[in-house]
Amino acid sequence: MNLANLVNPVMSAIFLDRDGTLIEEVGYLDRPERVALYPWSIDAIRAFNRAGVRVVMITNQSGVARGFLTEEVVDQVHRHIAILLQEGGAFIDAYYYCPHHPDGKVPELARVCDCRKPARGLVDRAVQEFGIDPRHSFAVGDRWLDVALGHAVGGRGILVRTGYGAREEERPQDGLVADAIVNNLIEATGWILRHVAPKSAL
Ligand SMILES: [Mg+2]
Ligand SMILES: [Zn+2]
Repeated sequence: MNLANLVNPVMSAIFLDRDGTLIEEVGYLDRPERVALYPWSIDAIRAFNRAGVRVVMITNQSGVARGFLTEEVVDQVHRHIAILLQEGGAFIDAYYYCPHHPDGKVPELARVCDCRKPARGLVDRAVQEFGIDPRHSFAVGDRWLDVALGHAVGGRGILVRTGYGAREEERPQDGLVADAIVNNLIEATGWILRHVAPKSAL
């Protein structure tokens, strides 16, 4: 067990969507050069880093199963994002993605899986790797499935209006209420840092 866990037994995280949330939504992102961080993304991630909130990217990349991009390309994109963040003094703790889709073309990836959001497989991996408490964590994204992921693991779900978010907001989902709907990731960051469990309360 790591010492920080003894001092602060609750480890909060954000389960951060990628496309339309951290970076601009550009369809299937098949080249690192097409990565465009939103202007506030570095500040947002750095604020979580400083607050001791883990940042775990969780992204559905069905383009891999569909044969539009390879896992190698996904890794290149994530390395590129890591470099851009590092230049601004920020870092993401882990980059997880689901390469599957039931209608995929790549035989070994064309299946129902437990890691495609809103399924919780990748959150469970973060829990294993970092000791994160998902009940004190927050999923942030531009789709209702991001909100659903937060609720599926007992945490909170925040919808951002960037990417597909404004369109999603117009199409409420039965039985699914976001804990907050905000304009973008930096607003989500402000909301989360106000709502993260204060250490004094633990
Ligand atoms: Mg998205
Ligand atoms: Zn999967």
